[in-house]
Amino acid sequence: MTDPIAEAELASRRDQMVRDQLVDRGISHPGVLAAMREVPRHEFVAVAQRAFAYDDRPLSVGYGQTISQPYMVAVMTEALDPHLHERVLEVGTGTGYQAAVLARLVREVISIEYVPELAEQAREPLRRLGITNVTIIMGDGTLGYPPREPYDGIIVTAGAPAVPETLIAQLNEGGRIVIPVGSQMYQELVVLRRQAGKIHEERREGCVFVPLRGQYGWGR
Ligand code: SAH
Repeated sequence: MTDPIAEAELASRRDQMVRDQLVDRGISHPGVLAAMREVPRHEFVAVAQRAFAYDDRPLSVGYGQTISQPYMVAVMTEALDPHLHERVLEVGTGTGYQAAVLARLVREVISIEYVPELAEQAREPLRRLGITNVTIIMGDGTLGYPPREPYDGIIVTAGAPAVPETLIAQLNEGGRIVIPVGSQMYQELVVLRRQAGKIHEERREGCVFVPLRGQYGWGR
C-alpha cells in the first residue's frame, strides 16, 4: 500500500526539484519541465532510496549502475531536442526513468540495456505507470538497434570512449545524438546533428557517467 501523505510529500519535492535544480539552472524547454514534473522519479528507485529520489545527485541502483542526477536527465533531454512524432533510441535503460521522461516527449522510445536484470526491473515501473510507448531490449546498445532504424534521436546514458559509428549510421536526416564522451572517469556531453548529410558536432558541459560497455564502448 502506498501512503497518500508520503505521495503528496514526494510530489511536492518533485515540484521543488524542477524549480530549484532545473528552472533556476537554465532548463527552459516547456515539455522537458512538464515531463519531469509529472514522471514520479521515486517509482524508479528502491523503496529504501525513495527519500532521496529528488536529491540533486545520481543514486546507485545496484549492479554498479546509477540513475542520473535529475539536472543531467534534463540537460540531455533538452539537448536531444525531442518532437512528438519522433522515434528515439536510448542506450542504457538503467532504471527506465530517462525512458519514461522521453516517452512523454516523443512517439516511441526503444531503450537498450546491457545488464539483463536491469532491463527486467525497468519494465515494472513503466508498466505500473501505464507507459506503453517504451520498448526495452536486452543487448549491446553500442551496436544500436537496426530493426527499428533510422532514429530521430539517440541518447546514450553511459560514458563512451568515442561516438560509435554504428549509432551515427542509424541516425535519420535531421537527427541528433546526445552522448557523454571522454575517459572512464570524466566525459564531455557531445551533441551531434545530421544535417544535409553532414555531421555537426557541439561540445557541452563536463559530466561523469558510468562507463559504456560493449563492442564500441569500453568492452565487457
Ligand atoms: N538512463 C538510466 C541511467 C543509466 S546508467 C536511468 O534513467 O536510470 C547507465 C546504464 O547503461 C547502466 O544501466 C548500464 O548497464 C548501461 N549500459 C552500459 N553499457 C551499455 C551498452 N553497451 N548497451 C546498453 N546498455 C549499457
